[in-house]
Amino acid sequence: AREEERLNARTQASKAMYERAAQHLSGGVASSYQIRDPWPIYIERGEGAKIWDVDGNEMWDFHNGFGSMVQGHAHPAIGEAIAKRYPMGTHFGCPTDDDIVVADELAKRWGLPKWRYTNSGSEATMDAIRIARAATGRDTVMKIFGSYHGHHDTVMVSIGTSLGETGPRDNYNSLAYGGGIPQATVDMTIPVPFNDAEAMEKRIIALDKEGRKPACVIMEAAMMNLGVVLPEPGYLEAVREITKKHGVVLIFDEVKTGLCIAAGGATEKFGVKPDLVTLAKALGGGLPSGAIGGSEEIMKFVEDGTVYQVGTYNGNPLTMVAARASLEQVLTPEAYAHLTHLNDRIVKGCQAVVDKYDLAGYAVGIGSKGCVTFSTEKVVDYETYKANQDGELADLAWLYNLNRGIFMTPGREEEWTLSVVHTDEAIDRYITVFDEMAQELTA
Ligand code: PLP
Repeated sequence: AREEERLNARTQASKAMYERAAQHLSGGVASSYQIRDPWPIYIERGEGAKIWDVDGNEMWDFHNGFGSMVQGHAHPAIGEAIAKRYPMGTHFGCPTDDDIVVADELAKRWGLPKWRYTNSGSEATMDAIRIARAATGRDTVMKIFGSYHGHHDTVMVSIGTSLGETGPRDNYNSLAYGGGIPQATVDMTIPVPFNDAEAMEKRIIALDKEGRKPACVIMEAAMMNLGVVLPEPGYLEAVREITKKHGVVLIFDEVKTGLCIAAGGATEKFGVKPDLVTLAKALGGGLPSGAIGGSEEIMKFVEDGTVYQVGTYNGNPLTMVAARASLEQVLTPEAYAHLTHLNDRIVKGCQAVVDKYDLAGYAVGIGSKGCVTFSTEKVVDYETYKANQDGELADLAWLYNLNRGIFMTPGREEEWTLSVVHTDEAIDRYITVFDEMAQELTA
């Protein structure tokens, strides 16, 4: 309550803005994920690793636009590319040179030869699933229980347990995440637990017997919406083997991991190659973006016209010039070395605080992503997360950070995203604030 009062006092301009916004902007925000009680924090500007809200509060940004701004805010190289593009026109609905250069670079980084663009992660996962369905002639989609893959109906299923009973691990129920999703669509999406290849194979075999063999498995190679949950050794290899054996298309949703945890995302980091990959967020250097990459065999269904992979703004020239500048000049091998250095420092620093104060939890990180998971047990899937996570402590950490100039993604399940322009100073501030909170809690 003290931290909440403190935040309210510091964000009176946001409060006034909310009162104005709520008149014609539903809930005062542009997306339901931006809603916050009692009011959202309205941002004025960002530069490098910092942002300023409308009250003038200066904050190190560890939110980074839901993990999109790995380049940092207003990166000069991206700004110059956008400024140069603008007077030449920003939208034609026709391909440009930058589309080709970006596809060449993504093909190199992911080892997947064929690419298409979208405007968001949701569009990328929607199209990837459609391609998998066309390639296999099947309708059922398998996903990981608890994972988020965007806001289209097929994947707005079994993201949380709040809406019903889950059932046994190898036979989870499919649960709609929010209203407006047809039951017939929900029933076509089958959740299985993360880090459990055996349960996945059992379910594929059971569905096959029912005449409902899945077209695809869509998953994050490392889960990024329960903090960070890494794959156990051998898990991804087993998933690759099982999907291949049963003729199920494997989609790695790299909307969060791609360009954040390595130059070639989770595919490079873990050395397991999917049939299709989806990118978004960090790809566009701050502009709306998305991409689908795939093997020749699977993308031929796009090329021969079986699947309409379309969109007025796909390959928008402003986005593509930003993506090109970002890939060529910002997200370089040196940038990933710097991110690794920073992430090692923050993970070690946070773990030292956990150990010093004997907190129930642990620090975990990969690439530019990480978090402190406040849990009595190691989290390996949604069930262990739900059973052991101290959600109230996670909420408190968010408020405590915000009141001390550390801006984190709201929501208990979110992680930090570092940018290439973060410095040791930013990291040390984060660790110091965490230490202060731990000291107060254990005093
Ligand atoms: N896939 C994953 C793994 C995500 O984390 C998200 C968004 O958070 C999406 C897909 C959807 O992306 P977008 O919000 O750009 O539609």
